[in-house]
Amino acid sequence: MAEARRAFVCGHPVAHSRSPLIHGHWLRELHIAGSYEPVDCPPSDIRTFLRGLAHSGHVGGNVTIPHKEAAQKACDVIDETAEQIGAVNTVWLDGSMLRGTNTDAHGFAANLDEQAPGWDRTGAAVVLGAGGAARAVIHALKLRGIRDIRLVNRTLSRAVEMKHRFGNGLSAHGWSALDELLADSQLLVNTTSLGMEGHDEILSVDLSAMPAEALVTDIVYSPLITPLLKAGRRCGLKTVDGLGMLLHQAVPGFELWFGVRPTVTAGLRALVEKDLSR
Ligand code: NAP
Repeated sequence: MAEARRAFVCGHPVAHSRSPLIHGHWLRELHIAGSYEPVDCPPSDIRTFLRGLAHSGHVGGNVTIPHKEAAQKACDVIDETAEQIGAVNTVWLDGSMLRGTNTDAHGFAANLDEQAPGWDRTGAAVVLGAGGAARAVIHALKLRGIRDIRLVNRTLSRAVEMKHRFGNGLSAHGWSALDELLADSQLLVNTTSLGMEGHDEILSVDLSAMPAEALVTDIVYSPLITPLLKAGRRCGLKTVDGLGMLLHQAVPGFELWFGVRPTVTAGLRALVEKDLSR
């Protein structure tokens, strides 16, 4: 009998991660005798942990905050997506070689494909935030051919850095430009941590000037309906929450480690929603 495959999510802390719930659900549903376990790994140990996967008996896993940049450096080979995004969230052993990719851009686009088909037939898109998640979102928008991406960030210099990273089609702005930019944008994506549970400050944006057909999406998924999504609904705009991004970004990793492509179902979503509401 083949040995049961073992995968992991490593972060610091890691207890909050919903990835074990997601992958555990698929392992059960697909009757795969494998495991997926949380590993709390301090930054000082991450390289040793990742370079020792063959020894620890893991086939690969997910890497989360604060290890995504360190994981990129620990890999022997990373793909073009991880290179573009500048971070690795999924690793796997290929023989003795440690490979890395980033599945957040896939998760972002797949969630919108499912919840708002045709979302990418947009003219201009506003992205709030210039952190790691923003890089994944911008990568996805560029892949889908969106040519006018307006990046708005509290710290303008970080938005400008991003413009240099991604080049043509991206413009960098401070927060004060937001109202004017929204007036002719068909898509608004929040990638800042504002609105997240436990965050004191909330994201307050006036959406009233956005075109009636505009789509508002937040990648923060706890709470599920963030203050931004509530504001979008009040203005009669279509909104999509960030939970689907989390679910869809898990698909490619599961397939790499366990050899079967899983499906994001309503049952899985309900399971994670229930856990989030505890
Ligand atoms: P990050 O690298 O720390 O970036 C945080 C961003 O939020 C920066 O642009 C920062 O602006 C901005 N920000 C923070 N506090 C702010 C405030 N008070 N006012 C204005 N802007 C503020 O974080 P990240 O890794 O990109 O993650 C961002 C969020 O995305 C987190 O909530 C994370 O949970 C979520 N996320 C969700 C998924 C998913 O699957 N749905 C995937 C990845 C991440 P400055 O540059 O000015 O500091």
